[in-house]
Amino acid sequence: MFSNIIRSEQRHGGDTVTVTDPRTLTELWPVPMATENDLDEAVQAAREAFPIWKARPLEDRQQCLHRMADELETRQDELRPILAKESGRSDVLAKIEIDDALRKQRLYFSFSLSLSVEYEDESVRIVFTYPPLGVVGAICPWNFPLVLEVGKGLAALVMGNCVIVKPSPMTPYATLKFVEYTLDIRVLQALNESNEVGARMTTHPDIDKISFTGSTATGRRIAESAGRSLKRVTLELGGNDASIVCADIDVNEVAARVAQGCFFHAGQMCVATKRVYVHRDVLPQFRSAFIAAVQKIVIDRAAEHSPLFSPLQNRMQYQIVQDFLADSAKQVHTFSVGGPERDGKPLPGLYISPTVVDRPPDNARIVQEEQFGPVIPILEWSDEAELIRRVNATESGLGACVWALDVATAERIARQLEVGTVWLNSFANPHPHGYFSGWKQSGIGGEWGRQGLLS
Ligand code: NAD
Repeated sequence: MFSNIIRSEQRHGGDTVTVTDPRTLTELWPVPMATENDLDEAVQAAREAFPIWKARPLEDRQQCLHRMADELETRQDELRPILAKESGRSDVLAKIEIDDALRKQRLYFSFSLSLSVEYEDESVRIVFTYPPLGVVGAICPWNFPLVLEVGKGLAALVMGNCVIVKPSPMTPYATLKFVEYTLDIRVLQALNESNEVGARMTTHPDIDKISFTGSTATGRRIAESAGRSLKRVTLELGGNDASIVCADIDVNEVAARVAQGCFFHAGQMCVATKRVYVHRDVLPQFRSAFIAAVQKIVIDRAAEHSPLFSPLQNRMQYQIVQDFLADSAKQVHTFSVGGPERDGKPLPGLYISPTVVDRPPDNARIVQEEQFGPVIPILEWSDEAELIRRVNATESGLGACVWALDVATAERIARQLEVGTVWLNSFANPHPHGYFSGWKQSGIGGEWGRQGLLS
């Protein structure tokens, strides 16, 4: 049974909706819809809790969040099938997300961050502090519902804020359960609803900050409405990440890893590679190896063969990706593998065949826009300056990857990319080779790590 969580109570009342399992197209469980009155009550409860929570020492709050992570760890076997079913993930992929959420939680309550900086300037003692803001509305997308909620919620909580989390109506279940596990914490509440309560959060006079992750279009609307009351915002928006492949790489190894970076969870990841630029000298070999890697992906409802590949999570996203395919077909692009389904056996659920589009023109939709699905254009490059101009010609500078045996070349290219994060010879792995460029990002501000805590 699923419920909204207000004032540390499970609320079951009101209208309910159900979400469809994208693998089987069967209806999942009823879940109540929150109303504007529920939002008002949650905000009031948060305002009452705020002075007490912020007065507790940082170490106390960290201990509290420790219990939250323990509870998630203990109940992960219960949560995993819920997360898998609502998001279309395999059990393996759901486990990866829960493990990641646990890792991030442990990080947030083990860091030691000085919350004030003091120095003497002649006769004056100057103290900078990082006070909590108050009540934070955390609005989440459907692609990684649990880990994104944890990233937003815990950073705000540990810094002394109270949080009201609003999951995407496409994936409400794991988020509501997770908050239910933490009923005794009293400073985290959760409301399921369509987009209206989310919109109301952005104008609510007693919410101090909106932390939003989602599409660029919604991010613009939120910036506009939050701006009216000068609410602070963090907006983590869409990406159109490029992978740049240089001529000196080991073709077979890199092609397989780039394919993984493109088709992980069927491309439904903000920092998935969404366009691949391959140096002319290795293009034919790379393309063959890339296609071979893509052809190994097997679509089966039980996800026994390719557990890292998924169906599209919802009908709206399924239709968006179908529209990209239709547009490429209309422009007579070359499909090296996949493409619009013609005859053949229909795929189960909301699956779309992994597709590679061979060298479409730069102004094609599939190059210019975020597809957020398993349709990937391969493009050719030879001149570095021209490459940089083409890669930077996007509104969504979220991330990028550079693949080169010569690390100095990789770094030189990375430094010219106008994106938030570049991974060198590594797919979405910020630790060993991550390189932060910080030139241009997707949205405003950022979550995670020190930046997330301070914002
Ligand atoms: P979306 O913008 O459609 O919805 C996100 C959330 O916003 C949902 O909870 C939705 O109910 C809510 N919402 C919709 N209209 C609203 C309004 N007017 N006011 C307030 N809330 C509103 O995004 P989505 O389709 O759920 O997610 C996919 C997008 O998210 C992709 O573009 C992806 O790149 C992006 N994303 C970005 C990151 C990142 O870290 N930058 C991470 C994951 C996903």
